[in-house]
Amino acid sequence: MTHDGTHARDGGAGAGHPRIAPPVGGPSTRANVHMRYKGIPWWGWAAAAVLYVGTAAAAVEFAWIRAIDALAGLGAHRLELYAASLKSELGRFEMVPALVARQDSVRALLEASPDEARGMLPAVNAYLEAVNRDVGSGAVDVIDAHGSVIAASNWNQPGSFVGTNVSYRPYFKDALARGRGRFFGIGTNTGIPGLYFANAVHGAKGTALGAVAVKVSVDALESAWRTPGEAAIVVDGNGVIVISTEPEWKFAAMRAMTAQQQRDIQASRQYAGRIVEALRYRRAGDWNEAAWIGIFPDLRRAGRTTRFLVMSQPAPQGHDTIMVLLDTAGARRQQRIAFAFVTGVFLIAALYALYAVQRRRAIAEKLKAQEALRRANDRLETTVAQRTAALTHANAQMQREIAERERTEQRLRATQQEVVHAGKLAVIGQMAAGLTHELNQPLVAIRTLCDNARTYFERNQPAQAMANLERVGRLVDSMAALTSELKAFARKPAVERVAVSLGEAVAHARLIYDARIRDEAVRLDVRIAPGTTVYAESSQLQQVIVNLLGNALDAVRDANTRVIAMAASEPDTQGRVRFTIDDSGPGIAPEVLVHLFEPFVTTKPRGQGLGLGLAITSRIVEGFGAKIAAANREEGGARFTIEFAAAGPQRTEHGRWDSGTDC
Ligand code: ADP
Repeated sequence: MTHDGTHARDGGAGAGHPRIAPPVGGPSTRANVHMRYKGIPWWGWAAAAVLYVGTAAAAVEFAWIRAIDALAGLGAHRLELYAASLKSELGRFEMVPALVARQDSVRALLEASPDEARGMLPAVNAYLEAVNRDVGSGAVDVIDAHGSVIAASNWNQPGSFVGTNVSYRPYFKDALARGRGRFFGIGTNTGIPGLYFANAVHGAKGTALGAVAVKVSVDALESAWRTPGEAAIVVDGNGVIVISTEPEWKFAAMRAMTAQQQRDIQASRQYAGRIVEALRYRRAGDWNEAAWIGIFPDLRRAGRTTRFLVMSQPAPQGHDTIMVLLDTAGARRQQRIAFAFVTGVFLIAALYALYAVQRRRAIAEKLKAQEALRRANDRLETTVAQRTAALTHANAQMQREIAERERTEQRLRATQQEVVHAGKLAVIGQMAAGLTHELNQPLVAIRTLCDNARTYFERNQPAQAMANLERVGRLVDSMAALTSELKAFARKPAVERVAVSLGEAVAHARLIYDARIRDEAVRLDVRIAPGTTVYAESSQLQQVIVNLLGNALDAVRDANTRVIAMAASEPDTQGRVRFTIDDSGPGIAPEVLVHLFEPFVTTKPRGQGLGLGLAITSRIVEGFGAKIAAANREEGGARFTIEFAAAGPQRTEHGRWDSGTDC
């Protein structure tokens, strides 16, 4: 019971306390601090994109500027180079007509009459031819004052200048007017472009007799200047391209011509009567004061752009201008490289950022898992702590309850002792009454018998006196029997109870009553399985069976059928054995049944029963931890039942006869 009660209360105590507190407070808040790693936010990517666009634009611009600057440096170098080569190449031809004009034969030819001249001509032609060959010019010719070519280095060739009139040519006009002339033009006979130098031939009086002209081809210059990715041109005073590394550009105009300029050019037949057309190009912007970016749609070559860096500087001679056009493809390539580099760097950075994000995310996940584990641990620890606290609490509660129970038990025991004490007094009272009654009568009888005996002695009737004395003796014996019964009732029962054979106890009782059973023809049925044991004390158990069997024999004595049956049940699951003794007697009187186990309750005639048998029996049985009950059977007769206690825990607890209850 103690255990059951404790369990019930344990459950109650547990329900009264929260078993697992929700994981609140310190651990969870601490955990939230670094649990979520969200990666790079959208604005981070947007900022990176803006940075990328800005950096790429700056890098592309920077690459462009650097490349164009380098190109400009190259252009300046080229201009220097071309100016120098122009000066050296053409400079050496510039002096040729002056030298030829000083030749006496040439002057003489111009001063001679037509007939004289005819004779002089072969020598002059030969001279001119020799000069032309030695100098390496295109042609050398002598022009009279009217502009007719009278002698020429190519006098004997199909396209000979001899006989042609060049009076309209500016170089001739300039030579006659100012002593020397110079211009780029296309040969009217040959149609071959060239540079013309002319010098006047003066007579003795200083008058201009005519002029000597040298035509120089610029083919060699052009092919020397030709460089991949570049174009080099020389523009004359009219703005017309006269030297060009691009053959189709020759004699195109770098600037728009007015109608008057066109007419003047036509008149001079400078460009062999060609309509000078403007070159197709567009200025895209100035780079610096010496360079500008131009788009030349006709200059597209395989893999090249039409965008050129254009630089110019005045030519060493005349009003010409040298121009170089430098392809910006290289700059474009530099731009692409810069762009690719920046893109690559950003791509690597972005990849690294992604990797870092992934890595940090993985770390965050790991931390999260660790945190979860830690929290679970915390929870577990909290739970364990709470459970331990609950258990400690329950334990303390149990201890308190045990103490309370012990106190209650002590109180109960004390109360019980009081009750027993009160019961004892009652029993003593009853006993006193019973004993008074039981002893008074024989005492009165003894008194009377003694008085009568004295009278018989006085009357000298010793026989009667002796008879009286014998009766006194018998009365004293019955009184002694009474006291011995009382002694048995009061006797301290044995203390130890053990497993005792029920069958043996029954056999003992049967032996005691053997003669009576036989004499009174009582049928005795005993159904007790061999080896059936009950927890009792051997001699006391025998006394109990003897008492019950004796009562049963008394009950059946006057009955028609005299049957007594004793039986024992199989031990139940807890080892309890039920013993019954039935008889075919009249049964127990109802008024007796209620007080059956009280002392001095008897229906038997005086001298046959004291009414102590069942009182003693019930007390012995209680001492066994067993219970005794009596009832009348439906089929007639009485049944006494003893429920023997189970072996085990009760043994030490209740196995001793409580001497305190002893009378
Ligand atoms: P006693 O045998 O001295 O009378 P007990 O205490 O043994 O004292 O019995 C008390 C009374 O119980 C008996 O007088 C009798 O009336 C009744 N009694 C006991 N056993 C039986 C029984 N087997 N059948 C009927 N009555 C019985």
